[in-house]
Amino acid sequence: MTDLATHQAKLDGYLARFRDTGVLNQIGGEARPAVSGATFDNHSPVDESFICRVARSGAEDVDAAARAAKTAFPAWRDIPASERKAILHRIADGIVARAEEIALCECWDTGQAYRFMSKAALRGAENFRFFADRAPSARDGQALPSPTLMNITTRVPIGPVGVITPWNTPFMLSTWKIAPALAAGCTVVHKPAEFSPVTARILMEIAEEAGLPSGVWNLVNGFGEDAGKALTEHPDIKAIAFVGESKTGSMIMKQGADTLKRVHFELGGKNPVVVFEDADLDRALDAAIFMIYSLNGERCTSSSRLLIQDSVADGFLEKLAARVRNIRVGNPLDPATEVGPLIHKTHFDKVCSYFDKARAEGAEIAAGGAREGDTGWFVQPTLFTGATNAMAIAQEEIFGPVLTAIRFADEDEALQIANDIPYGLTGYVWTNDLTRALRFTDRLEAGMIWVNSENVRHLPTPFGGVKASGIGRDGGDWSFEFYMEQKHIGLATGQHSIPRLGA
Ligand code: NAD
Repeated sequence: MTDLATHQAKLDGYLARFRDTGVLNQIGGEARPAVSGATFDNHSPVDESFICRVARSGAEDVDAAARAAKTAFPAWRDIPASERKAILHRIADGIVARAEEIALCECWDTGQAYRFMSKAALRGAENFRFFADRAPSARDGQALPSPTLMNITTRVPIGPVGVITPWNTPFMLSTWKIAPALAAGCTVVHKPAEFSPVTARILMEIAEEAGLPSGVWNLVNGFGEDAGKALTEHPDIKAIAFVGESKTGSMIMKQGADTLKRVHFELGGKNPVVVFEDADLDRALDAAIFMIYSLNGERCTSSSRLLIQDSVADGFLEKLAARVRNIRVGNPLDPATEVGPLIHKTHFDKVCSYFDKARAEGAEIAAGGAREGDTGWFVQPTLFTGATNAMAIAQEEIFGPVLTAIRFADEDEALQIANDIPYGLTGYVWTNDLTRALRFTDRLEAGMIWVNSENVRHLPTPFGGVKASGIGRDGGDWSFEFYMEQKHIGLATGQHSIPRLGA
């Protein structure tokens, strides 16, 4: 059997139970359909085949989940942190044990290639281990003595929180949000993306099998405009951790205003990779290709704008186009596949619309620019050249395997182009001039910048964007800052004089 056939056979086994029962909610430790009984159908982007039915939840399901999270909160907040740590490590063990199942289901549900999803499942386990180890110190504070008081600070979990995730790498992103929330002592209601619900259900099952008490983590499936909206409006939900589009973040901020929700937003990006003439051009080429064509280009941190210095542009773009034409598009279950299908038809149509826009705007299509095959939502890896930064292909997040190359003359122009965009998630700078790297990164408007490197995530570092790319940071202690409240306690150290009104 080929690797593809083996994967296909295993996947059929893993999905069989979902074909029977559908993807249910999990509320207070109980698997439940939506109260209304409504469901929607989930299809694979690979061949449009039916995967399963999914509970289509409404406000009453969200209310039940929020109440379960509220009920479970005091006990979860108060159990010894060492127990929380042990449970989170057991969840990580469960993820590792089922990593292949998670990876294959994720490939079929999202279209992401197995070569990346097999690693994403294991990264999910690492996220749990990282925050498990920090759970015992999450409440630590400071002693800030003043002349009359011993001031101490401590942190307490904020309460039940809502986690809303997108479809691009749903398993990994869910662990990235939920692990720190649980480690902090919060309880969770998770609303996964409607287009990729399968692995969120598997993750939830792993958590409860690992001994997570009922109601600490609740799963509510459904659409953003009903289940998602109800979650952001629920008075018992104290904060919303959201990953998704910038315009959805803006809606969530409005929806959460009446209940004064704390929000953490990881939003869209249109990230520059800036290649100067003095860079190691071979490594820059590999990194630029990896950062836009891996994960189908459905990656918030993708290097979707290539800024290339005029003096080296011709040779660089020629090599780039040849490599892009050579990228292996195919079934995401095949370990050889580099690019799989886009998540669904609406997104496929959006990505394809930029091929015509590029032509209309006067750019050239140096590679790709068309659908691949006639089944499933595959597009050819695409390179636009001859673009200016004012074009829609340079300004808008396409979120597919599509790179827009723009030339620049010097450092000032590169910086001006890089910053002339509503987004500010990541930047990638390629130069062997250290002083230039320091100067450029200081002025580049982005939350995360890598110099002479692709995006290499290190969990203790802050993850997040500026401008329309987000609010707040994840990673290290920053995650706890979001899921916890700072508390100050001042204890008098003597008989300091108290102003005596009416004495
Ligand atoms: P989306 O905003 O359409 O949906 C994300 C989630 O929000 C889904 O679960 C959806 O059901 C829900 N939702 C939609 N409308 C809602 C509403 N009114 N109220 C509450 N919830 C609502 O995003 P998407 O298309 O699923 O994902 C792609 C986007 O995510 C891209 O813009 C990408 O850049 C971004 N993203 C950002 C990061 C990051 O770390 N910055 C990471 C991954 C993806």
